[in-house]
Amino acid sequence: MVVGQTAAEAYVGQQLCDNAGTVIGMLFVLFRQPLRNAAFLQSTLQIFASRASAEMERLEADAHIRRQASLLDQARDAIIVRDLQHRVLYWNQGAERLYGWTAEQIRGQRIDELLQLDRSAFERACEAVRHHGEWTGEMVQCHRDGHAIDTEGRWTLVTGEAGQADSILAINTDIRERKATEREIQRLAFYDALTGLPNRMLLLDRASHAISTAARQQEGGALLFIDLDNFKTLNDTLGHDQGDLLLQQVARRLETCVRGSDTVARLGGDEFVVMLEGLSPDPADLAMEARAAAEKILLTLAQPYQLDGCQYRTTPSIGIAPFARGDCTVGDLLKQADLAMYQAKTGGRNTLRFYDPHMQAVVSARAELEADMRSALAQGEFLLHYQPQVRHDGKLVGVEALARWRHPVRGLVPPSEFIPVAEETGLILTLGRWVLHTACQTLAQWQDEPPLRHLSMAVNVSSKQFRSASFVDDVGRILAVTGAPARRLKLELTESVLVDNVESTIATMEALRTLGVGFSLDDFGTGYSSLSYLKRMPLHQLKIDQSFVRDLLTDPNDAAIVDTIVALSAALGLDVIAEGVETLAQREMLLQAGCMAFQGYLYSRPLDDAALLEMLHSAGSPYVPSLSSLP
Ligand code: C2E
Ligand code: CA
Ligand code: CA
Repeated sequence: MVVGQTAAEAYVGQQLCDNAGTVIGMLFVLFRQPLRNAAFLQSTLQIFASRASAEMERLEADAHIRRQASLLDQARDAIIVRDLQHRVLYWNQGAERLYGWTAEQIRGQRIDELLQLDRSAFERACEAVRHHGEWTGEMVQCHRDGHAIDTEGRWTLVTGEAGQADSILAINTDIRERKATEREIQRLAFYDALTGLPNRMLLLDRASHAISTAARQQEGGALLFIDLDNFKTLNDTLGHDQGDLLLQQVARRLETCVRGSDTVARLGGDEFVVMLEGLSPDPADLAMEARAAAEKILLTLAQPYQLDGCQYRTTPSIGIAPFARGDCTVGDLLKQADLAMYQAKTGGRNTLRFYDPHMQAVVSARAELEADMRSALAQGEFLLHYQPQVRHDGKLVGVEALARWRHPVRGLVPPSEFIPVAEETGLILTLGRWVLHTACQTLAQWQDEPPLRHLSMAVNVSSKQFRSASFVDDVGRILAVTGAPARRLKLELTESVLVDNVESTIATMEALRTLGVGFSLDDFGTGYSSLSYLKRMPLHQLKIDQSFVRDLLTDPNDAAIVDTIVALSAALGLDVIAEGVETLAQREMLLQAGCMAFQGYLYSRPLDDAALLEMLHSAGSPYVPSLSSLP
């Protein structure tokens, strides 16, 4: 305390100190007259001074907090303090900017309910904070308006004075820009800028995965190397802009040709690669599947393109390298597919070639067969042979019509070689109609000759043919056109026809039965038809498959099966016939089992028209000559 005095006035001064005793200022009181009771004044002033000190300290502290808060607000990052139930205690302006919620709106609200898109990632981060006191990592969170925000968070567990967990301080940074840049870098590194397709790098990566997956899961796959024919000419004549436009359209079309799990890549220039996965591991099937995909690509890319101001046509050449056992590298495969592509180019372009020489042979042979078959149908190279069906007393009851192909170079081609290809390609529909028509013509001719009138004609019908929408109409029309009696026509169906889509099968069979046509179930015993199906089908006959007849004398199982089939047909009220009967001993066993009708080499091989007529007319007898004397 200082005291000063003049004649006219006096002053008293008192130091102001903070709690620690540090002087923080002075308090002076000025008097307009001389002092009288200095002691009283002194104590009053001390009280004043200590109150002023406290107030100044409080003001200073408030200012300090305000300064800190404004500093936190100036931070770019979102700074959030929440309690252990995730209710917001503090929310800076950075958080307002990042999440769109103001501090007032969100104070007391739970951030796990408002901000979290990925609940499990959030739980894992909380778990880390609880255990280790902190967590750092990336997280996708949610803005007030619902859009996703990539953030990077640094969370710290805040403890109270007694060391107990109290709250969580989170500093979250907006990393959307960084993420976008990362994605862009990724895109530039792994995708082709012109078409947006995966580039060579990404293809190599995916292909090496695909090769090992195929080996592990015992699947097949194929690499298709696709090169546009004459692309350079387009570039040179119409310019690079038009060339670019074409490449982009080719890319889009290629994508439509494959499944989502397959890869379409551009290696550069006009070279594209398609990688097919999840194909059959069986080499022949794999080849057929890869060929089907490549043919689709040939067809799709051959459609006209709309370029700037002109229409343009181009074709590709495709090389195919199949893979299955994981015994090759990506580099090998690319080389193989590339080589095969060059073969396709030299083979006349707009075509495909397989690398594997064996597969190539299989595929070529099939393709050749298919092409040959188309022209064979047009040129009448198909013919029917007829195999007699004979009753127990040797009386001829009918024939089965069997297709043959008289090939100008290969000679007589058996149906086992061309029926499967015909089924695969859909040619079976045309071929099947021809067979039916020809067989019905023969049947109609027999009507003019009394001894032959009673003979039936069995015709094989493949599943695809039976399922075709026009089948019932076709049969009706053929019967009408040829004048063949429907009740003498017997369609041979296999069990596979019966078991898939039972309801529509029954409907088709009923419609045909209304026409008067009968049914025999071919190759019986080799399929899966159940008794309940059989009871519902309007069948007339079961045909015991030749595999059971073949080993009848040596395999007791087959003998038992034959017994069962005969008993079954009796129970269902159906006829039964055995096919592939080659010996008298087989015939004897079948007779003993109760089977009264036979077809097989024992009686006759399938005969052509002339041989059949000769047999039918020999001795004018309806009995099969060589066996008419059998009991
Ligand atoms: P499938 O319907 O089971 O015809 C019976 C096959 O057994 C015929 O063979 C016939 O020549 C042969 N075969 C007859 N008797 C004997 C015998 O005693 N021993 C032996 N080992 N075989 C005998 P093919 O003519 O080669 O016909 C094979 C298959 O081709 C037929 O089997 C049938 O599934 C199919 N097929 C033939 N023609 C047609 C047709 O016009 N349409 C359809 N969809 N399939 C046909
Ligand atoms: Ca048959
Ligand atoms: Ca058969």
